[in-house]
Amino acid sequence: MFAFQKWSSLAEMRRYMQRFIHLVDGLPKLGGVMRTKYNQYDSVVRPMKKYLEEKGVKFEMGKEVVDIDFNLSADKISATVIHLKNKTEIVLRENDFVFFTNGSITESTDNGSWDKPAKLKGVEESGAWTLWKKIAKKDPSFGNPNPFCDNIDLQKWYSFTATMKDSTFLDYMENFSGNVDGTGGLVTMIDSNWLMSIVIARQPHFPNQPNDVKIFWGYGLYPDRKGNYINKTMAECSGAEILEELYYHLKIQELMAPITKAGKVNCIPVAMPFIDSLFMPRNKGDRPDVIPSGSTNFAFLGQFAEAPKDCVFTVEYSVRTAQMAVYGLFDTDKKVHPMYESTHNPKYLLAALKAISR
Ligand SMILES: Cc1cc2nc3c(=O)[nH]c(=O)nc-3n(C[C@H](O)[C@H](O)[C@H](O)COP(=O)(O)OP(=O)(O)OC[C@H]3O[C@@H](n4cnc5c(N)ncnc54)[C@H](O)[C@@H]3O)c2cc1C
Repeated sequence: MFAFQKWSSLAEMRRYMQRFIHLVDGLPKLGGVMRTKYNQYDSVVRPMKKYLEEKGVKFEMGKEVVDIDFNLSADKISATVIHLKNKTEIVLRENDFVFFTNGSITESTDNGSWDKPAKLKGVEESGAWTLWKKIAKKDPSFGNPNPFCDNIDLQKWYSFTATMKDSTFLDYMENFSGNVDGTGGLVTMIDSNWLMSIVIARQPHFPNQPNDVKIFWGYGLYPDRKGNYINKTMAECSGAEILEELYYHLKIQELMAPITKAGKVNCIPVAMPFIDSLFMPRNKGDRPDVIPSGSTNFAFLGQFAEAPKDCVFTVEYSVRTAQMAVYGLFDTDKKVHPMYESTHNPKYLLAALKAISR
C-alpha cells in the first residue's frame, strides 16, 4: 500500500482494503506484517532453488525468450515452439508445458552508483514486456500489456540501498523511532518533495554481512520533483546526493558528515521504470486468465495474470497463480491455497472502523 499513487487503480485499492481489512488496525505500526530473516532472495529464492534442483529441476540462466508459437484453433490453444534470443528454438513435445511470467516490475532496472545517477531505461530493453506484447497480438485471451507498460512516467519510481561501515545512522534511527532494526515499519519523510521512505530491515540483512556493516533501503515516489535540499530531481541524483537529502530531512547532516568523509558510506540509486505497473488502472481482460480458455499446455504466471480477489505487489499473488496454473493443468488432487477472508468478520470490521476514525 506504500506504493499506491494518486492515479493508481481504485479497483486494486478496493481489493487491498477487502483482502487486508484485518490488518488495518495495525497499519500505523505495520503490525501483523511477516518478514523473512534475511532479504527475500536469500530467505526464499535460494532455499527454493536448492530444493527444486534436488528434485531434478534444471535452471538455465541468461537465456531470453523472444517469441512463442501457438497452434490456435476455434477451441484449443497449444504452445508449439519457444524461440530464444540466440536464434535457437525449443520445439515442444506432447508432454511439454509452458508457464510464462507475463510482465515484471523489475524489468529494465538500472543501478547508478555513489557518484552517478541511475538511468531510466524503457520497454525496448525489457524481455518480459516485449515478449508479452508480441504474444498478446496472437489471441485476445492473452490480455493487453499496454496499460501496464506504455506510460513509464506514471509507473516508475526510484529506490536506493545504503551500506555503511558504521552504526551511527542505525543507532540514531533506533533512538528516534523506538524500533530495533527489523521491527519497525517504513519511515516516511512526509515533507519530502520526493516523498521518501526508508525501511530498516533486521541486521544482518545478508547472511555474509559483517557485524560492523549496516544496510537500509529506501525509495521516493516522486522522482521528477526537485529535492527540498538538493536542487535536483531524485532521478538526476547520485547515491551521495540522495543520502544528503535524506540526512537533511532527518536533521542529521552534521552527524553524518564525518562518516561520509571517512569513506564509510555507499549508496546505490536504482531506477525502476515498471515498479508501479501492477497498480495501473486496467480493464477487464487486460490481465489474462492464468489458464486461457482451451489451453492444453500453456499458462500465465505472476502479477499480471488474473487471480480473482487477490492483491498484487506480493509474492503470495505469484505463488497463487502458479498453484492455479499447475493444479489446473495437471491432475494433482491439490487445491489452490484459500485466501484469508476477513471482510465479513465483525471483529475485524469494528477494529478497522476504530482505526480509520482514530
Ligand atoms: C522493491 C520491492 C519491494 C517488494 N516488497 C514486497 C513485500 O514486502 N512483500 C511481498 O509479498 N512482495 C513484495 N514485492 C513484490 C514481489 O517481490 C513480486 O511480486 C514477486 O517477486 C514477483 O515474482 P514473479 O516470479 O511473479 O516475477 P519476477 O520476480 O518479476 O520474475 C520474472 C522472471 O522472468 C524473467 N524473464 C522476463 N522476461 C523473460 C524472457 N523474455 N525470457 C526469459 N526470462 C524472462 C525475469 O528475468 C525474471 O527473473 C516487492 C517487489 C519490489 C520490487
